[in-house]
Amino acid sequence: MASCNSTMMYSLDAFLGLEDADYCEFSCSGRKTKCAKSSAFEPREVDSMPLTTALNKVLESACNGLSKVPIITSSSQQDIDAFIESTIQSNNLQDAFYVLDLAVVVQLFNDWVTALPKVKPYYAVKCNPSPSLLSTLAALGAGFDCASQSELELVTSMGVSAQRIIFANPCKMPSHIKYATSVGVNLTTYDCEHEVRKVKVHSPNAKLLLRLRADDRNSKWPLGVKYGALSSEVEHLLMAAANAQVDVVGVSFHIGSGASDARSYLDAIAAARGVFEKALSMGLPAMHILDIGGGFTVGNNGELKLAEAAKVINAALEQYFPEELGVSIIAEPGRYFAEAPTTLAAMIYGKRVREEVREYWINDGIYGTMNCLIHDYAVLCPRPLACASQRSNVSCAKLPLHKSTVFGPTCDSLDTVLKEHPLPDLVDGDWIVFPNMGAYTHCAGSSFNGFDTSAIPTYCVFSLNARGSSVALDTLKTSFHTECDFCDKLSSTSTEASTEESSPGEDSE
Ligand SMILES: *Cc1c(COP(=O)(O)O)cnc(C)c1O
Repeated sequence: MASCNSTMMYSLDAFLGLEDADYCEFSCSGRKTKCAKSSAFEPREVDSMPLTTALNKVLESACNGLSKVPIITSSSQQDIDAFIESTIQSNNLQDAFYVLDLAVVVQLFNDWVTALPKVKPYYAVKCNPSPSLLSTLAALGAGFDCASQSELELVTSMGVSAQRIIFANPCKMPSHIKYATSVGVNLTTYDCEHEVRKVKVHSPNAKLLLRLRADDRNSKWPLGVKYGALSSEVEHLLMAAANAQVDVVGVSFHIGSGASDARSYLDAIAAARGVFEKALSMGLPAMHILDIGGGFTVGNNGELKLAEAAKVINAALEQYFPEELGVSIIAEPGRYFAEAPTTLAAMIYGKRVREEVREYWINDGIYGTMNCLIHDYAVLCPRPLACASQRSNVSCAKLPLHKSTVFGPTCDSLDTVLKEHPLPDLVDGDWIVFPNMGAYTHCAGSSFNGFDTSAIPTYCVFSLNARGSSVALDTLKTSFHTECDFCDKLSSTSTEASTEESSPGEDSE
């Protein structure tokens, strides 16, 4: 199990480009800060538009029924930790929970539009189906990649129109195809002849994208072993669709999740153009959609950063899909949007000291959120939040570190989250905070041994920061007036939600 060598490396601040001067120092008890004149949790005026107004708009428009989201000063680890600490205190929390920073989602969306202006993102729901994340992305104008009936139900229930959804599963269950057809989702992918026949039977108006195999061999999860047509199969697959009178309207691929080699996008885009040409040479109608899949990251773990991938992709699009071709370009980013905005907080409820090693039990683990250690080769970068033992130094600055093992709650010895990790001396009631825990985490967790990942609540916040706040507001302002095809549902859902007196900002999934 790898561990981080520096906590800062994984801090959101690095990626948001914040300077030290933007940090606020909070203490667990007084919540006094160097920088916050007003309380960090009160709304502040930005750009003459009250942030709460903008925020309420985005949340309302997203039909999620969340009417109040606490505002925090920045997305720095200090401010997130201060929020976590105050949330623990004021709600008397003892169970693990997530903090989802919606401002970071907005920021990531804005960065996407800047880096890849021609590529419309269809968020891959499987990566993290949190309703708050989905609704924020919906409000920003994203489309969605769904792979199953439940994902389709979730996204359409938020009022997202069928035109903004792709059923991007190359091998679908018949009942799921029927459901997709019933809600008007017609765009889907295929990579074998059998799928053409199945789709034809259950979805007569389906439009297909031919999924090509295109691997980045160094990606964390190469997907090509399971999906994607080989180049030798393309002609046959185009013919099979033509014979069945099903339209093939474009090409998709996925270079693998957690990719590190931007050249894979170049190769795949070139290959996709080859398929467009092949179809023309066979006398088939011109294709008009290119789907460049997922694999994007913010580069927290040394993977390829969006901006680096974008350079290669934009050049490749220029070369192989110039605008005069009239091809719509979409992508299916999952990890890119989900990973960084989410922080996990888990409480220590057990301790054993064996020789020089300290052993702790926390209330989330390998069968829960940290299944990502096994399934996603994740690197955890924990930090202590000693709310119980160090009330005047909650972050445990400068305290001596000890080799520590951290166990999850189940009775399986595999359920070990950290080994020989340097941590200060902690006690029951102290917490451990894990940043960047939004991608392929709770969605793949289980309820093994009665510890249910899906019951972990999410507390949303909206952080202000040097770059994010104004960018976020601009995005909020413009996005609210575009693509609001779900606003009709708004009035009904938001009145429903406001009668529900759940704790503000909490999204029970
Ligand atoms: C998993 C998946 C994605 C998302 O991949 P990321 O690497 O998280 O961006 C997109 N499209 C398809 C078809 C997938 O299976």
